[in-house]
Amino acid sequence: MSHSARVPSETIRKWQEIVNLLAEIMQVPAALITRVDPPNLKVCISSESKGNPYKPDGVAPLDQTYCQTVMTTRQPLHVADAVKGNEWQLDPSVTLGMISYLGVPITWPDGEIFGTICVFDNRRNEYSDLYLRLLLQWRDVLQDDLKTLSTLHRQLEERDAKIRRLVDANIIGIYIWDFAGHILEANDAFLRIVGYDRDDLRSGRLRWSDLTPPEWLDRDLARWLPELKTAGSLQPFEKEFLRQDGSHVPVMIGAACFEDGGSEGVAFVLDLTERQRATEALREVQAELAHVNRIATVGQLTASIAHEINQPLGAIVIDASNSLRHLSGERPDLQKARNAIERIASDGERAVNVIRSLRALAQKGGPNITEVDIRDAIEEVLMLTLSERHRHRVELRTMLATEDRLVLGDRVQIQQVMLNLIMNSIEAMSTVMDRPRVLEVSAALCESDGLLLVIEDTGSGLGPDIANRIFEPFFTTKPNGMGMGLSICRSIVEAHGGRFWGSRRAPHGATFKFTLPRLVAESAVMTK
Ligand code: ADP
Repeated sequence: MSHSARVPSETIRKWQEIVNLLAEIMQVPAALITRVDPPNLKVCISSESKGNPYKPDGVAPLDQTYCQTVMTTRQPLHVADAVKGNEWQLDPSVTLGMISYLGVPITWPDGEIFGTICVFDNRRNEYSDLYLRLLLQWRDVLQDDLKTLSTLHRQLEERDAKIRRLVDANIIGIYIWDFAGHILEANDAFLRIVGYDRDDLRSGRLRWSDLTPPEWLDRDLARWLPELKTAGSLQPFEKEFLRQDGSHVPVMIGAACFEDGGSEGVAFVLDLTERQRATEALREVQAELAHVNRIATVGQLTASIAHEINQPLGAIVIDASNSLRHLSGERPDLQKARNAIERIASDGERAVNVIRSLRALAQKGGPNITEVDIRDAIEEVLMLTLSERHRHRVELRTMLATEDRLVLGDRVQIQQVMLNLIMNSIEAMSTVMDRPRVLEVSAALCESDGLLLVIEDTGSGLGPDIANRIFEPFFTTKPNGMGMGLSICRSIVEAHGGRFWGSRRAPHGATFKFTLPRLVAESAVMTK
């Protein structure tokens, strides 16, 4: 236990009241609590009574004082009149005119001497037993306080030791800062994160404000510092530091002031480089999967799409020979020829569109964030699935918003979601024989969520055993299914800042809905 523990201010206030009371009850000029501070004796608390010559915090040599005797003998001492004998002549109190004394020792819980509690009088004073008992009672109160104090002190020391161990363990970076931007102390882990060494720290050159890239410093100054000043601490948040080599390091940082209204504090810093690397790797894998899924879905359409292309090509061949026929002979029919050539042009365009959409879906590249006309994008997907729908005798009903249909996002990814959902619906209806097979596609502006897109069918539906599992990766009920479609759809929509969900449709079939906010951040979208 440390015997130099600081007595907290609320205890000091209580002790002050005790000595004031003592002086008043005993009607003496001075009552003191002294504390040994070798080689001196320090006045810890002095009563606020009239004629008291002792100043708080006054210091006197220990030697030959009344109090020294109390502390060495560990017994109460009563001096009725110091002037009578020679024994106490050297006590500075006598010089101050304090010729009588009653004092008792105060000890720490482990038996070490703390000091004394005593009263002085400037005249002869016999002090009755009652007074001694009173003094001893107050002494007990003080000793109880010391007990609490030393327990607290021990707890503080233990906490300090734990913090010290945390600092020294260098598991996370820790530094002591001040509001002016200095870094006063730091552990090796922090220095490693920012790429500096101890000499840089010692030289005083390290400033957290210089280590913060300008774009983050603005946020620190505008938001975090004021919050830290008022609240005294900051919940962990993410920011970046500048390494000595100029590179940026992503970190999680939390901070706390040492005391309310103080100008210094401690910060805990966690290096997020690894996490960021893992997140990027995960994003790459997801993007890769999304691409594979897209290719697989497009693959399912191959037969239908071949038909989709062959049909206009066949029409082109027929119209070409027709137009040749109309142009040849003695009386060419220019009007008919023109009509046939116009049909050739539009059939050609249709075939080109199919191929262009297919190409876009099969491509693999970085995110391409543009303003997407959602109606155009959906119509393109509907065009690609036209033959597939006809093949399965699926009736299509659409309700596509004519206004406010622009979203910011990756057109191919959004089309992938639509394609997945439409193909799932067609497949779920392919076995239905007892009711119409209806696919409903709608896109409408929805107040709170931006655009709401709904794909509904009258297919096999989502039974309770299936509904809970449809978003599980690799969950499929199809012999050749990959089971990734819906989870990829959901990631794509969420990366665009939207929501995605599916439910049963009464009386038959399934409903899938997703939202797309009108504006999204570019970084949120999957990378391939
Ligand atoms: P996959 O199509 O490869 O099976 P998905 O993740 O797209 O993977 O779908 C998972 C499962 O969810 C499907 O196998 C099917 O059981 C169910 N499902 C998806 N869409 C529908 C739907 N419209 N109607 C009924 N069941 C569906």
